[in-house]
Amino acid sequence: MINPDDLSCDFERTFARTPRVYRAPGRVNLIGEHTDYNDGFVMPMALDRSTWVAAAPRADRALVVASREYRETITLDLDCHPPYPTESWIDYVRGIAAVLDGSGPERPAPHSQDAAPAPDSPDVAPAPDSPDVARPFQGRVTGADMLIASDVPIGAGLSSSAALEIACGYALLDLAGMPIDFDALARAGQRAEHEFVGIRCGIMDQMIACHGETSGALLLDTRTLQHRSLPLPASLRVVVGNTMVHHELASSEYNARRADCEAGVQTLSSRFPHVRALRDASLPELEGVRARMSDRVYRRCRHVITENARVEEAADALVAGDFVRFGRLMDQSHHSLRADYEVTCAELDTMSAIARGLDGVYGARMTGGGFGGCIVALADASRVDAIEVELRTRYEAATGRRPDVWVCTAGAGVSRVK
Ligand code: ADP
Ligand code: MG
Repeated sequence: MINPDDLSCDFERTFARTPRVYRAPGRVNLIGEHTDYNDGFVMPMALDRSTWVAAAPRADRALVVASREYRETITLDLDCHPPYPTESWIDYVRGIAAVLDGSGPERPAPHSQDAAPAPDSPDVAPAPDSPDVARPFQGRVTGADMLIASDVPIGAGLSSSAALEIACGYALLDLAGMPIDFDALARAGQRAEHEFVGIRCGIMDQMIACHGETSGALLLDTRTLQHRSLPLPASLRVVVGNTMVHHELASSEYNARRADCEAGVQTLSSRFPHVRALRDASLPELEGVRARMSDRVYRRCRHVITENARVEEAADALVAGDFVRFGRLMDQSHHSLRADYEVTCAELDTMSAIARGLDGVYGARMTGGGFGGCIVALADASRVDAIEVELRTRYEAATGRRPDVWVCTAGAGVSRVK
């Protein structure tokens, strides 16, 4: 765990000033995977693990940013943006700072073949789901010294990236005395990731980093950004297991999945004009156009449409106290992500299958973008200690990798700590 007083002292030693301290949480998504860029439903829970930022304003337009995890300090000029992405962690910080400041270059370079053009481009109208719809930030952010430290595992599907964007964004707005609108901050984080990192992520991670609640999960509609609390009953526990693998194709495959979904929407909407996003389509409608799409695009669409329905059913099940039904939906979600969406890997399949077989586990699935990272399991509180031990030992025996397994407590959304 990060201690904010230690972080402050560290900052004072480095920058010879007293900082303010901020934090934003990572998250685990209970169900609703790869639905958030299809205008669908998701059910994330903020973690009690966060990315912390100690920060103090500067008189100039420099951002001097140190990351404990990367043991590196990088200086940015808010008025001068070199070509990006640079493939460095600093792209996330540069991105959120530039978006909040309104100071990014006119036309960011395209990041990959299927990346969306920059919404600023004069010849391109913003897409309906474009994070560009919100530009409510008035004024400029100030230069700042920043020290970042995190206990969110990095690149494990628990959204260390949004925790970083939102913690830094909140810090910059607060230091500049600018008003903070959570939905607008979340959109700014998403836009930073699209334009400055080149990942065409949805809005779930940034929204839960802003709106997380200690009572449990949120049911979030990623089209309207409406959300409602789904408190977790005391008899339930959320267990996370990190497979300790991270396959490099994660980001290119992510953008490829998004392109497949867009291709599916195009075919669907030519026959069913009300379909603006996969969220609007039903399975019978998908079957109606099956012959006009590739098998791959068909299966991608089938995952999103069925997953969306699973999230709504899971929310009902949780409210009704029907954890067996919730667990079954998690299992089905994993199966769909493996067979139709093809974003799991051997380690995720192995670990979730082990979890599923343990006494007291209601259901288990991969969580996050996939291709490695973590699984999430819903477990009976009375069995959770044994589950933790069994999952660890059996996964290590099966793969030779020592996993990180822990029982999660829900955390709060972004805040200033001191
Ligand atoms: P996830 O969000 O699932 O952890 P991503 O690949 O989306 O995985 O984001 C991880 C990236 O976010 C890292 O490669 C790094 O660039 C950046 N990042 C996350 N945490 C930190 C940190 N504490 N310091 C610097 N960069 C970080
Ligand atoms: Mg991420």
